[in-house]
Order: sequence, then C-alpha cells, then structure tokens
Amino acid sequence: MSGGLPKNLDLPAWPQFDDAERNGLLRALEQGQWWRVTGQEVEGFEREFAAYHGSPHALAVTSGTHALELALQILGVGPGAEVIVPAFTFISSSQAAQRLGAVAVPVDVDPATYCIDVAATEAAITDRTRVIMPVHMAGQLADMDALVRLSTESGVPLLQDAAHAHGAEWRGRRVGELGSIAAFSFQNGKLMTAGEGGALTFPDTAQYELAYLRHSCGRPRTDRSYLHQTSGSNFRMNEFTAGVLRAQLARLDSQIDVREKRWPLLSGLLARIPGVVPQGSDDRCTRNPHYMAMFRIPGISEQDRNAVVDRLIAGGVPAFAAFRAIYRTKAFWEMAAPDEPAEALAARCPVSEELSRDCIWLHHRTLLGTEEQMQAVADVVAEVLAA
Ligand SMILES: *Cc1c(COP(=O)(O)O)cnc(C)c1O
Repeated sequence: MSGGLPKNLDLPAWPQFDDAERNGLLRALEQGQWWRVTGQEVEGFEREFAAYHGSPHALAVTSGTHALELALQILGVGPGAEVIVPAFTFISSSQAAQRLGAVAVPVDVDPATYCIDVAATEAAITDRTRVIMPVHMAGQLADMDALVRLSTESGVPLLQDAAHAHGAEWRGRRVGELGSIAAFSFQNGKLMTAGEGGALTFPDTAQYELAYLRHSCGRPRTDRSYLHQTSGSNFRMNEFTAGVLRAQLARLDSQIDVREKRWPLLSGLLARIPGVVPQGSDDRCTRNPHYMAMFRIPGISEQDRNAVVDRLIAGGVPAFAAFRAIYRTKAFWEMAAPDEPAEALAARCPVSEELSRDCIWLHHRTLLGTEEQMQAVADVVAEVLAA
C-alpha cells in the first residue's frame, strides 16, 4: 500500500480484562467446586445476567449455538417443523434448527438494517412453521413491533438470536422484556466473552424449568437417584466461565456507552466516502451495543470486496468480509434443507445476495477507540477505496 499509512492504528485489544476477571477465575478455582450444580458462580452469573436484561430467568449454557438449539427444542421444534431465519446471518441460526431435524426457511433482510424482512417473514409462514427467529444484526434490533404483532396474529413464537445484542433496547425495553426467549453468545469475539459460552433469557417460568432439565441430561437440580425427568444433553456452563463472565458483564455498560458515541462519528465519516453506505439504524432501537461496524460498497464484486478487506487489514483496520447467505454454504444442504434449489431461494433473497458480496464489517474493538482513531480508520477506508 502507498501513502505511508500507519500499519498499526493502535486500536484497543479484545478481549479486555483485569483483576476482576482474574478474581473471578480464582474464586471458581478456590471454591473447590468446578461445576454449576455445587458451585456459586454460574448461579450468580445467571441472576446478574437476567436482572441486567430485565428477564425473570436466565440459563447459562456452553455456547450460543447450544442456546439456540435448546430454545428451539423448548418451543417444540423437531423433525417436520419449519423455522424461519434470515438468509443473512451466522450459520448457527439455521444450523441449530437443522440439528433438530427441522427445515430452516431463509427469508430476505432489510437493505438498511440487515435485519429480517417482516413482509417476507409473513409470506413464508406455513402450517408447519414453529418458530420465527429474528437476528439482531450487529446490535441493531429487528423490527420488534411488527414481529411481535406477526407472532401474536399467527400464533408462531419468536426466538430472538441476540448473539450480537447484549444490553440492547427497543423503545426503552431491554431484550429480556420483549416477550420472547432470547439467545446470547459469549464466544471470543462477542460483546462479553469467556472464550466460549452462551445463555438464554426466558419470560416464562415453565419454559425456563424445562430448559434447565434439558440442559442437564433431564436431571432435576437436587437429584441424587438418577431420576432423569426428560430427554436432554449436557449444555452446562462451568464455574470458571461464569467467574469471568460476571466481570465481563460489569464492564459492558461502559463499553456500550463508548461505542454508542463512536459509531455516529465513524458512520458519518464513512458515509462521506464515495461508494460507502454504512448500516442504517431504526430510531426505535434506543440502545445499540454495536457488535460490528458494518458498511456496504454497493455494486462491488465479491472478489474486489475481499481485496478491500485484505488492504484494510494491511492498513491496521480489523476488517472482515460479512456473512454469506446461509444457503450459499455446503453445510446448509447437508440435512433438513428446503425442498428447493439454492437459486430459487436466492431469487427471493436479493438483499442477502448483495450483502454477501458487498458488505464489510469492522470488529467492535474499533469503536472502543478514540475520536482521533475513528478519523484514522475512515482515512484508511477512503485511501483503500481510492486505490
Ligand atoms: C456467534 C453467533 C452465534 C453462535 O454463538 P456461538 O457461541 O459461537 O455458538 C449465533 N448466532 C449469531 C448471529 C452469531 O453471531
């Protein structure tokens, strides 16, 4: 690259930690109880995470993918069912349904917010539809007013894939207050992390109790007699993970505050670069934790987009090519796929097709940088695109 750009913009590192995480790990270690059934950390984390999201119950699990799988099972999804998912998402949204033998039905997304298109969702409902799974893309909540209305009218429950949406709010209401189960991820790149992990929040106590049983081999909390009550698996979080996550949760609000200040600045600078269109927002999403800084370069080829990503990385910007439409993967067709070829799905998902080619995202650690660093990031983007 020419122009003498700095190779390292010195953006903040991710994950972030200090003595709070260290102490969390040591608490778990020294308590001498390393699984949730006899330890205190997972239970403490669940209480704090539920309260933070305004939900009566949270259940910690091993990953965001397992959280989705467990929630779908609780909602009655199995062989023969259909689950509506946005075509533009991380593969776990559809894979979780397909692992249960349910058909994942991809629908298109909104060209501004990249969240599930509600009219397309309504058109995809059949008498086999068991769940509608909106994904809150990069922290921008899907249109929860319209989706809750659609869910009420159709009788099909929502399952929020909130893997990007820790701390998000819709018209002042938190994710746990929106009336449906929400699934979170604590994988290494997510907004709070212990390397791996996941959680569910539940508006309903009976659903939560059933999820507890199923995440622990069908075994009640106090069982000592191997009286397994339901089928299930082992999705239990360990105590070390929860010790770290309690510290990560405590620092989440201040990080969201910084990202909420930086994104309007960075997106304004990006919007001034010819050919760049930042992810749009919906004013009803009153708190956006900004899991990714996303933008499009409409009309660019996939190959050129990938070359831009490589040059951004060379310029010190933590850039990534965005997801490809889920039906453009080999994995999607392995089991419980729709009874239609990929081209038929693509014809109904033109926006997801475009996003697969023209969308780029920057790691959220970018948005933890200074105002000067936002200018430096935008300068690198402008220089790469001018070249
Ligand atoms: C990360 C992610 C998941 C899965 O979470 P894991 O903890 O990695 O299993 C699910 N959905 C979306 C949209 C994600 O980005």
